[in-house]
Amino acid sequence: MKTSRFCPKCGRPLLKSPIKGYTFQCFRCDEDFYKFEVLRKKDLNTVKALRRQTIMRERQNDYKSYSIYKPYPRRK
Ligand SMILES: [Zn+2]
Repeated sequence: MKTSRFCPKCGRPLLKSPIKGYTFQCFRCDEDFYKFEVLRKKDLNTVKALRRQTIMRERQNDYKSYSIYKPYPRRK
């Protein structure tokens, strides 16, 4: 499920976590986050800065870029 919370590491939108005790997941960073760790709409400036860094980092590492405006797809 798409949320209006963002990953504090890469700035992508987060998905709701099915793991009990955690609240949100980022499949790009492969991490679970608690509610107090994630960024919200009011942190949008921070989110934008993170996204810029993410784009640069992923380009440098020749990582096949996936939109930073969508939640990273769940792994199979
Ligand atoms: Zn992330």
